[in-house]
Amino acid sequence: MQVLLAEEYGFCFGVERAVEMVEGALAEGANVRTLGPLIHNTQEIERLESKGVSTIDAPGEVSGGLTAVIRAHGVTPEVQRELEERADRVIDATCPFVTKVQKLAERAAREGRDVVVVGNPDHPEMIGVVGYAPGHSHVVRDASEVASLPPLHAPLVVSQTTLKLKTFLDAADAVRAKADSEPQIVNTICSATRDRQDAARSLAGHVDAFYVIGGKHSSNSLKLLSVCKEQCAKSFLIETPDEINAEDLAGAARVGVTAGASTPNWLIEQVVARLRGMGQ
Ligand code: SF4
Repeated sequence: MQVLLAEEYGFCFGVERAVEMVEGALAEGANVRTLGPLIHNTQEIERLESKGVSTIDAPGEVSGGLTAVIRAHGVTPEVQRELEERADRVIDATCPFVTKVQKLAERAAREGRDVVVVGNPDHPEMIGVVGYAPGHSHVVRDASEVASLPPLHAPLVVSQTTLKLKTFLDAADAVRAKADSEPQIVNTICSATRDRQDAARSLAGHVDAFYVIGGKHSSNSLKLLSVCKEQCAKSFLIETPDEINAEDLAGAARVGVTAGASTPNWLIEQVVARLRGMGQ
């Protein structure tokens, strides 16, 4: 049985960078607290916890002697300031792609312009971005919500990094009708999710079974699973190698493997090793 990995899988750039920054702080002996879970993967969180990293829910839980970590989603400037006041050291692991959105929003607000952010208003990334343009930002989930916005002055339109392109373009189009001048439309969607889906799609038609490694509630892992299922009926979402069922692999000559953007490499290696062992 051949085990084939999709061309793109696992940690995206921003998540990998955040984990490396935390590992670096641990190596220097820091007592690390992350504001919110560093990544959406139970096994990786447990591994970091075993090294002394714990998660806090609010900056008020930070005190002297601690290193506070801002995760890849980023935070508002107020939250960052509070962390800096309370912690010994703050590690800013905001993904550079998110920082770009924050800076664009900040500059437009400084120029007195409106900022339309397309995405989920409850998502931590969106809350952080809005914090950079207080009083100027409007979050809409899609084009249908643009109708309820007030008239917009020289608007900037940006998106949540994980949004679908069509949702963003439709919303940006709708903003034109509300604006007093041509909007500045900046596509700030990150390609990590789409790249993983495209790679899984092109492999799925060539394998007899497909394993997606990722959290059972992770939306990007569930989307990967549905992409695989379109061409490979025997596609499974698993969190650990223990969930591989030998009966599902009966008669399989080629097995595909991919992983969500929060799945660590060590877990992927364990799954691949288990499959190779079973194949022999
Ligand atoms: Fe950064 Fe993209 Fe990963 Fe989000 S999905 S953390 S924007 S690399």
